[in-house]
Amino acid sequence: MKFSALDLAKPLEQAIFACGYEDMTPVQSQSIVHARRGKDLLVNAQTGTGKTAAFAIPVLQQMLDTPKGTQAKAPRALILTPTRELAEQLAQTISKYAQFTTLTVTAFYGGVKLTGQASKLNQGVDILISTPGRLLEHIALNHLTLAQVEFVVLDEADRMLDMGFISDVLNIVERTSEKRQTLLYSATSSPAVNELCHKILNNHKEIRVSKVNAAADTVKHVIYPVEESRKIALFNALFKEHNWFQVLVFTSTKEQADRLMQGLKASKVPAAVCHGDKRQGARRRAIADFKSAKLQVLIATEVAARGLDVQGLDYVINYNMPYLAEDYVHRIGRAGRAGNAGHAISFVSREEERSVERIESLIGEKIERIVKPGFEVSDRKSLLRSVSKHRKPHKSNKASKTVISKKKR
Ligand code: AMP
Repeated sequence: MKFSALDLAKPLEQAIFACGYEDMTPVQSQSIVHARRGKDLLVNAQTGTGKTAAFAIPVLQQMLDTPKGTQAKAPRALILTPTRELAEQLAQTISKYAQFTTLTVTAFYGGVKLTGQASKLNQGVDILISTPGRLLEHIALNHLTLAQVEFVVLDEADRMLDMGFISDVLNIVERTSEKRQTLLYSATSSPAVNELCHKILNNHKEIRVSKVNAAADTVKHVIYPVEESRKIALFNALFKEHNWFQVLVFTSTKEQADRLMQGLKASKVPAAVCHGDKRQGARRRAIADFKSAKLQVLIATEVAARGLDVQGLDYVINYNMPYLAEDYVHRIGRAGRAGNAGHAISFVSREEERSVERIESLIGEKIERIVKPGFEVSDRKSLLRSVSKHRKPHKSNKASKTVISKKKR
């Protein structure tokens, strides 16, 4: 279905043309018509499906249908999202869609001064994008009222719940107009998401764009079994061998991210790290440099990279396997977006094999394993046998307990 069939307001048609979009993505063709009529929606859609336009276009259209003029401290639309990066990315994308209107779009998140954000509210923000915590800080300081919010979007609702924002989200939504329209987007479905829908949606329509809890069909999954200590060497070997142009690499911890960064510095690959210990400016720069292809490798931890809109990404590397299978689906959502094929490559140590089982059962697919010569994982049982053969006999627990109890006396 083409955007031109929607008969949108001229400034929106112009913006869509400027973005180069012609055909709607599935999430757009299924949600825009209903959302434009004011219907509450629960949409199960992954990152990279075009879901931002799917909610932004109908909200903008309705705001243009009933113009009210920008008011100080009283936004008309509120979009809640779990992370700073996602908030910023949404603001950039939605600003593009609103560029030919007079509507103002702003993103709020923690880590920056409240005063600058408060003065923006005084000037008037029509569409406010925020992380829940930062919005509550502004509410506590009476910097704004949500009573005139007519449109509420919960972006990545499942993630907000995982991050423990449930009571914050409910607290915020309850402050908005009872007549509001609520659009809830979630990549995965769970009892917690269903409960949230029950509490805040009104006679909603459910839209499922991808299989529930399924990874994007366009992604090819591959696993390289490897010892944890050999992962940097494996990364360097594959990077050279496949001549990867750009890769997004996920690590589980900041330390692993920093260690890999050190390893890449040595091999002079242009790379940057994006994790919670990095200052906001450095994270923003890293993402911008990666997007403009100045960097070939962006190393990120889960939370920092959540929902990054990095386009045309062919490869996502799981340097460490995520503990939660759902996080695997979120991570690889950056590959194969908007119909392009992508590759999800996972480095799996023995300790991470359990995560693989969970992921395979979630995505309903056995992942292909490639054993790279020179990086084989030694067999755990034989390793343990050889260790125990050479281990010196040591005192039993019983003996050491006796020593301790004697000392105590
Ligand atoms: P999103 O899921 O909203 O993060 O969008 C993923 C990517 O798809 C973004 O880079 C958008 O600019 C792009 N996109 C969204 N809608 C369309 C469309 N109808 N045609 C082509 N690209 C699109």
